[in-house]
Amino acid sequence: MAAEILDGRALAADLREDVAARAKRLRGRGIAPCLTVAIIGEDAGSLGYVRSIERAGASTGVDVRVSALPATAGEETLRALLRTLGDDPLVHGIILQQPLPSHLAIRRLAEAMPPHKDVDGTNPINLGRLAFASGTEFVPATPMACLLLLGRSKRWPLRGARACVVGRSNVVGLPVALLLTARDATVTIVHRGTRDLAHQTRDAEVLVTAAGVPGLIRAEHVAPGATVIDVGTTFVGGKLVGDVAYDEVAAVAGEITPVPGGVGPVTNVALMQNVVLAAERASG
Ligand code: ADP
Repeated sequence: MAAEILDGRALAADLREDVAARAKRLRGRGIAPCLTVAIIGEDAGSLGYVRSIERAGASTGVDVRVSALPATAGEETLRALLRTLGDDPLVHGIILQQPLPSHLAIRRLAEAMPPHKDVDGTNPINLGRLAFASGTEFVPATPMACLLLLGRSKRWPLRGARACVVGRSNVVGLPVALLLTARDATVTIVHRGTRDLAHQTRDAEVLVTAAGVPGLIRAEHVAPGATVIDVGTTFVGGKLVGDVAYDEVAAVAGEITPVPGGVGPVTNVALMQNVVLAAERASG
């Protein structure tokens, strides 16, 4: 039996209505919710992502500005930019687009991200807050999108579910694992160092994969009937592909997110939701 598709575009359309209504209310009070994306250099993937953020902004009523710095910009320049944006009352949310050029270390810059405008959860303070389950200021957009899609799945609520997260990055894998744990799932994190990946993933009722390795997850990695959330996005020959070998996995899984059209569109709306939230907070 073929898996049911967890349709990210449909979910994004539903979420967009609420976000757009809140943005409109803010505008009615003279406040234009505004996201600034700081981008350093010209990474092709990043530029594509920025365009999709601009589209999501246009469709929700959030202004998206881009602060572009040359690939040679130093750490101090970037810190100064983050300070300036932090102090600017017209800017409500800030993203520091990754990957950074190799001479810049995200670990050193992340702390300079103003926490109250950190809509993608870059500052370690916000990652730490996720560990508290409640009291989170901003749930980063991609992990949030995974949870929102699971909210539409037959696994919801996740209490007691066996979940496996492929990848342990600070941007996706780790925060997803924290969010699933907070929802009372039993979570295993696997990564590059894991021996016998399939042995671990095959045990999962919920499989979230964020490795950025096209085709990593094959049918043999997936339990019959499992819910599969594919966060991986890699450009291969100009085409966006996920971590999941879609056709063969869709034949065994119970539910699956496509790439494109799964996590991506929901992520963009989740991001705008955070910007609107930041603007609401800033304006009391
Ligand atoms: P992202 O930002 O999407 O999370 P990263 O490149 O930062 O992507 O992280 C990729 C994650 O995927 C890492 O935690 C890494 O250990 C994991 N990973 C990469 N390749 C494999 C693999 N072949 N098997 C299992 N995990 C992998």
